[in-house]
Amino acid sequence: MTTNAPTIESIPATETKPARTFNTSDRCDVGGCGAQAYGAASFTGGELLFCGHHLGRHLNELEKQAYAVIDNRDAIVGK
Ligand SMILES: [Zn+2]
Repeated sequence: MTTNAPTIESIPATETKPARTFNTSDRCDVGGCGAQAYGAASFTGGELLFCGHHLGRHLNELEKQAYAVIDNRDAIVGK
């Protein structure tokens, strides 16, 4: 007598979420700034980018108003 063992499907590897990265084309959205962005705040209407300086300045307010805040200031080199 033989039993048909169920086939074990291979479990796909867990997808790792790519970390949000900023490059030189990402610029601070604060008027008149234009420095390279190292942070972002997501709102229902879109995303705003911030340089390290402006992210630090507005962080408290952004954490209240945005549904997600990315702080990538660790990536700032030569600050
Ligand atoms: Zn700025």
